[in-house]
This record gives sequence, structure tokens and C-alpha cells, in this order.
Amino acid sequence: MEPDQEYVWFDHLPTRYPWSSLWYGFYRCECAALRSNEPACPVCGRTSPCEPIDPSRLGEPPTYVTPGAEGRYEDYVYLELIEREWKRPTLDVETLPRPRVAGRHMADKVGIVLLFWTYFESRIDRLIDLGLSYRPAEEAENLRIRYRSVGARMDRLYKILFATTYNADLADAGYAPIASLLQEIQTRRNAFAHGDPVAIDDSLVERLVTALRIEHLSWIAAYNRRLSVLRARTDVERGD
Ligand SMILES: [Zn+2]
Repeated sequence: MEPDQEYVWFDHLPTRYPWSSLWYGFYRCECAALRSNEPACPVCGRTSPCEPIDPSRLGEPPTYVTPGAEGRYEDYVYLELIEREWKRPTLDVETLPRPRVAGRHMADKVGIVLLFWTYFESRIDRLIDLGLSYRPAEEAENLRIRYRSVGARMDRLYKILFATTYNADLADAGYAPIASLLQEIQTRRNAFAHGDPVAIDDSLVERLVTALRIEHLSWIAAYNRRLSVLRARTDVERGD
């Protein structure tokens, strides 16, 4: 990762591509992995996206129908809301009170961190749902009820399901800087929610926006790693 290049990832998007285009080009493999243009699926090794939809049409290029990698429509909405907030003009500080404590002040675009965190929680839930889908329904429901907060899901529940934590998973996959940024966002967002609005400052907003593309890739990497392990474990249990 080269910081200078990464800083402007959104300036290099093709014309009229929104920030939600981070999802463009990613699709769900038949094995459920989230793939892009790798020659082979990182989880099952398939080379084509899936079986041609109509293999009988000889002589024509095969056509494929591939579901997108996003979990739901809101995955696009969150990214576009973050983009909209980033691109709006800075508000006049005279007309909007900005809390200030000992020289620190709340970010003008503090909403970006709050939006991101809601979006991030929904993707942690998607990972957790993946792990729970391999458990008996009643056990899954009990775990879901017992571990409700995102912090508990990233740590304790993640450990129960996957024998690691989300942040350790990211670090193992080569995304240690993203893991530490996420920890910082989590801490500061909690401080914001509990009476310290200056905990989210302009620097945090800028670092988050800069890292959005790599954060997106890191979540996909964690998803595929977990899917791989779950599938391998199932194969061993079946004796394959
Ligand atoms: Zn696959």
C-alpha cells in the first residue's frame, strides 16, 4: 500500500463511478466465495464464474449469471451516503456549534465515521451469519442472542465460531494497519457516543476515507478465509 496513491483512490475512479463502485467487479462464486478477476477462485479453485447458463448453445460464447458480492442493497447505500457527506461543502463553523475541548474539536464531517460504523457492523453480522450457518439452528439462535454487540461479535463470538478474532484475522491476512484503524474508530466512536464528541476529529475522518478501499478488500479477504476454513472442516467431518 502506498499512502500517497491510496489517499486519492476515489480520484482515480472512472467518470461517474460512485464510491459504491468498490463492489463493482466482485461476484459470488458457486462456493459462496467473493471473487473478482482472479484466474481461479481463492476458495474452491473454479476458473469460470460458474457453469454456463446454457451450455447447449454451441459456438457462442458462454453466458453466465453471477450474483453480486454485496450482501444487500444497503451495502451500496452506505458507501454513497459516505461519499455524499465527504463531497458536501464544509459548513460554516459560525452557524453550527462545533464542540471544542482543550484545542481539539469535533470533525465537521463526523457523520462519516458514524455511517461507516453502522455499515461495518452490518458486514461483521454477515461474517457471523456465515459462521452460524454451519451450526445447528437452535445453537445459532442462542449465540446470536447472547452476543449482540459488535465488540462481542468481533472478539468472543468470532473466537467461538472461527478460533480467532476479526482483528487478528485481518492482521494474518496482511491488513494489520486496517485492524488498528478499526480499533481506533471503535474506541473513538464509543467515546463519541458516551459524551466525548471531540473524540471524532478531522484527522480520523480523513484517515478513514483514505482507507475505505483497502478496508473493503480486507473484509472480503476475511470472508473468504473464514469460508475456506468452514468448508474444509465440513469436508473433514464428511470424510471427503
Ligand atoms: Zn469458489
